[in-house]
Parts: sequence; structure tokens; C-alpha cells
Amino acid sequence: MPVTVWILGDQLTNPHPALKEAEDGLPRSDITILMIESRQQAHRMPYHFNKLVLLFSAMRHYAEALRAQGYQVDYRVAENVGQAITDHWKVNQPNSLFMMAASSLRGRTFQQNLSKVLGIQTKLLPNSQFISSVFDHLPDFPQDKPVRQEQFYRKIRQHFGLLIDDHGQPVGGQWNYDAKNQQALPKSLTIPKMISFEPDLMTQQVMAEVNQSGSFTGTAAGFDLAVTHDQAQTAVEDFLQHRLPFFGTYEDAMRQSETVIFHSKLSPYINIGLIEPLALAEAADRCYFEGSAQINNVEGFIRQVIGWREYMFWQYQRLMPNLAEQNYWGADRQLPAFFWQGDTKMNCLAQVIKRVLETGYAHHIERLMVLANFCLLCGVHPEAVHHWFMCAFIDAYEWVMTPNVYGMGLYADGGQIGSKPYVASANYINKMSDYCLACRFDKNKRTGELACPFNYLYWNFLLTHQAKLRHNYRMARMLHNLKFLDGDEKIAVQDQAQGLLEDLDG
Ligand code: FAD
Ligand code: SF4
Repeated sequence: MPVTVWILGDQLTNPHPALKEAEDGLPRSDITILMIESRQQAHRMPYHFNKLVLLFSAMRHYAEALRAQGYQVDYRVAENVGQAITDHWKVNQPNSLFMMAASSLRGRTFQQNLSKVLGIQTKLLPNSQFISSVFDHLPDFPQDKPVRQEQFYRKIRQHFGLLIDDHGQPVGGQWNYDAKNQQALPKSLTIPKMISFEPDLMTQQVMAEVNQSGSFTGTAAGFDLAVTHDQAQTAVEDFLQHRLPFFGTYEDAMRQSETVIFHSKLSPYINIGLIEPLALAEAADRCYFEGSAQINNVEGFIRQVIGWREYMFWQYQRLMPNLAEQNYWGADRQLPAFFWQGDTKMNCLAQVIKRVLETGYAHHIERLMVLANFCLLCGVHPEAVHHWFMCAFIDAYEWVMTPNVYGMGLYADGGQIGSKPYVASANYINKMSDYCLACRFDKNKRTGELACPFNYLYWNFLLTHQAKLRHNYRMARMLHNLKFLDGDEKIAVQDQAQGLLEDLDG
């Protein structure tokens, strides 16, 4: 009774649920594991060099580990997935196929159709890389009202008993410690060095192949990511020991000379199954109870992993495919060309873009309050923003990018996901970073040759979209501040914004 277990490239979990299911009652000799490197998928867009190398190297290491455990693995490098499956079928002739559901809708639809196409029995299991997929009492939220992350997060936290006391209440008496967090970095604070991993021969081979393909974003050098479960676990332990104790306190802080600061940089590994999110949240929870990290830092981190990550996946499933067609502000501008080189005089943007192109990473606040903020203020079309983010980041996958760009970053969905548009002037960037110190623009000026573009773009945005913004109570204070601009100043910020936008259009 030969069977095939198809393990997708971003499903490198250990153990894999589909493999476990197949093994339940079948001898190992009847099972063949199919893994596919699809050239068409890899080149759908010019993805970041580091993302492609991470994915392919981690897949090959995973396949090698399975072979070492005695499994038969049919690892195929093919033009596309369909071709690989057909070729596998001709050779192996299995009579059933076990899979775990793909994270993307496109992938899941393809899997659901396979039974008909191949004329065999298929078994599709829930995706265990998301806590909400295996959560047996998913909250029954109303269909007609937006569901906020906080509601979702509390249910999941309670269900899994993370930072929950014996009475079912949050430890410390609060669900959220944001009031203690969001601090700027003191100049004297030393940031721990980020852990890195030397590429082995297998990774070097993948680097050479991706480089040869010539179709990627970033440069073909400097790859230093984990590619195995053991290495990813080392990265987790390094984070828990050195950066979790400051995570929440400085989670919004930015520094020109630092990339990761106290963030974890674990998303590339979580998203391909090298790290299990619930185990990660439980490890952070233990750090609190053992006394190595305080509640505000641990709660802040757990909220990201089981709150925001799960909420985004849940919203993706709920709102797609319409989500990717939303354009609440009617934005129609192309992405400014400098996003592909970082050659702009705006220091914050130049530094963050160059860093992303080089490494494929920027932390959340740089993504949200520098990159997406600028695109939102300029009215860049959501599809163009989504495309750039997909190409530029090592952790980019459709299920997570679409809700983050259309929902949180651009509010293009009109508030299904985020409760307000994240727009800010230079004031915020200056408060949370040292970028403005080295910038030719003046963070305090609203108009004039040296005025920071974030300032006039911000006021222009509020003036242009007043009617829509008035419906959102969280924008009331920002709109109230419009009163401090007299008629001439309103005209001046709009004229200057218009000039810059025309320049961007070329
Ligand atoms: P940490 O700050 O250490 O957080 C811990 C973990 O929490 C992350 O590893 C991640 O798994 C999870 N997390 C935190 N916030 C989010 C969120 N909003 N959505 C989903 N997971 C979250 N995340 C991606 O994984 N892939 C993307 O392609 C991606 N694109 C983004 C685009 C925009 C415009 C924005 C605003 C956010 C995006 N995010 C994305 C979410 C978030 O910025 C990253 O998950 C985070 O910066 C990854 O770095 P880290 O591992 O150091 O995170
Ligand atoms: Fe960015 Fe404006 Fe500050 Fe320059 S002055 S770094 S453009 S926020």
C-alpha cells in the first residue's frame, strides 16, 4: 500500500502532522516523502536572496535529516509543482496522498483539487504552524463587526494558560503592559550582538545556485541565518537570554546603527516551521516565572507571537480574496523608485531601505512607522507596496504580508484589521530614533525647503482625508490639531506635498 506524504517547503515542522498520520498503521517502507523545489514559485517575483537561500537550504537539510532517520525522500527540483507531482506519480504509483494544509489560499485550493486530478484518496490535515488551526474552541465572533486583535489574543492566551494565574486571570492583573513599554533607547545602552550561523557546504551550494539564477532582490553575500531545527533553537535560546529581558521596554525604539535591537528576528524560522509558535510562547512564559525577564517584556513578546501572528492568519483566511483588492483611500501612485536602492535624502527611509535590501529584515516599527507610513502618506497603490514588501523581506509569505500591508500598514481595508491608520509626522520618528540627527531635513519644520517631508505629507493626508477620518474616534486628537494650522499654512503644506508627489511621479 504505497502512500506519499507531500511536505511543502514552508512546512518543515518536526514532527510533521501528515507524516505522523501516515505512519499511524503503515510501515515506514510504504511511505515516500515528496518535497519539491519549484523554479516557477521561486521566481514568481524577485524575492530576497536570503529568503530563497534560507528556504531551499532548510528544505534540503530537512530532507537529509529525514533520510538519516530511515525515511525514503523523493526530493525534486522541478520547473513547477504540477510537473513534479506528475513525475513522482509515474515512478511511485501511490494510492493515497497525505498533506498538511498550505498557509496560502492558492496552495490550499491546489491541494483540495488534487484528489480529483490524480484520481486518488487524499488527506488534508489542519496547519499545525498556527495555534488557531489546532485550537478547538475558536472564538465565535460576530460576522458584521470588525474583530480586534486584543479580543482574539486574550482568548488564545487564556486557552493555553500563558501568563495566566490559578484563577484564570492575567498574572500581574493586566492583559497589556504597553504603558511601561514603547520607550526610546538610552544612548548608553549596549545592544547584544546578534547570533549568526556560518553557511555549511549545502548552504553554499544553494547560494551559488540562487546567485546563478540571477533573479532576486538584495546581494548574493552575507547569508548567516539558521537552516536547521537545532540552529533555530540556538537562535531562540540566544533571544530568550539576551534580548527578551528588554523586548517590551524598547520594542518601538529604532537606532541608525542597529538592526534587530531587542527584537527576536525569529519570524523567518517560525514561518517555515523551524520553530513552533506555541513552544516559543511557552518558553517565554517560563522566563517570566523563573525570574529572568519581567512581565512587561514577556507579555509584549507573547502578544506578538500568539496575538498578532495568529490574528493576522485568522484575518487572512476570513477576509481573502477580497482583502487584496481593497483600496480605502483610492491610492493610485507607483512606488517611488528609491525603494529599490535607498537613494533618498530622507535619512530614516534611506537607512531602513538599505538595511532591508542588504539583509531582508527590518523590525516591526521600521516596517510600520517608516516604510508603510511613508507609502500611506504618499498614496502609493496597495498592490505596489505589497509587491515591494514581498520582494524585500526574508519572512514574506502571502498569508502574513497581505493583512499586514493592506490592513495594518495602509489601512486599505478601511478598518477590518487595524483600529486606526498608522500615520505619523517626524515627531514620532524623532522621539523613537536617532535618524533625524543625521538628516538634512529639519524635523521641526512643517514647510519650507528644509522641512521634513513626513511633516507636510502628514498634514496634507489629514486635510485630504478629513471626511473619512472623522468616522474614527481614535483619530479625533490628530484631527483636532488641524485647528493649529491657519489657512495659509494649510495651503502651504498641501502645495509642498503636491510638489513632492509630482516629483515622485517623475
Ligand atoms: P518580533 O518583534 O521579535 O516579534 C516576535 C514574533 O511575533 C515575530 O517573529 C512574528 O512571528 C510575530 N509577529 C509580530 N507582529 C506580527 C504581525 N503584525 N503579523 C504577524 N506576525 C507578527 N511578519 C512576517 O512574518 N512576515 C511578513 O512578511 C511581514 N510583513 C509585514 C509588513 C508590514 C507592512 C508590517 C507592518 C508588518 C509585517 N510583519 C511581517 C509583521 C512584523 O513586522 C514581523 O513579524 C516582525 O517584524 C518580524 O521580526 P521579529 O521576528 O524580530 O519580530
Ligand atoms: Fe526622517 Fe524627517 Fe527625521 Fe529626516 S527629519 S530622518 S526625513 S523623519
